Amino acid sequence: MSAKHNDIQQNRVIDGLKAIGQGMATVFSHYFRPPITLEYPEVMPDLSTRFHGRLCLLSKSDGTDLCVGCQACARVCPCTDLIQIEMHRDVNKKPVIDMFTIDMGRCIFCGNCTEVCPVDCIKMLPDFELADYSREALVLDKKDLTLSGEDSDHWRLVHGMEPLVQ
Ligand code: SF4
Ligand code: SF4
Repeated sequence: MSAKHNDIQQNRVIDGLKAIGQGMATVFSHYFRPPITLEYPEVMPDLSTRFHGRLCLLSKSDGTDLCVGCQACARVCPCTDLIQIEMHRDVNKKPVIDMFTIDMGRCIFCGNCTEVCPVDCIKMLPDFELADYSREALVLDKKDLTLSGEDSDHWRLVHGMEPLVQ
């Protein structure tokens, strides 16, 4: 075996040992750091109030509908027919929402609908636990979506808005 071949072998061994040393250094540099993962679902993450999670409809403080059925949210949504709304006007010309559905299974959580709503009705919750057993179950209706007056006031308060809406 030539001296040159021996040198090459020696260099390979040294490079290998260096790589192992670097790997071990990385392991030890992380070993004493506190964990950044959580033992979900036992431990839930503390999510930002701006988290883009499940959509909801806020109510007025007395629990009645805040939505005026303008369809702006449905029009701005990039996913065709994802938001479906049916409404009529009562004898006093007030809007009555007959149907409001959102297919959360197709939602891309872009937030467009929440930004365009003229009455700050459609909003997002810090709720990411949306898994279900069928696609149909991901289509939320008005009842699923609507928060009570009290919960709506709380949402507004947490987000720095005037909580009471008449
Ligand atoms: S968050 Fe985006 S994709 Fe989801 S319903 Fe609103 S506009 Fe549509
Ligand atoms: S934009 Fe707001 S008020 Fe208009 S239909 Fe959607 S949720 Fe209702």
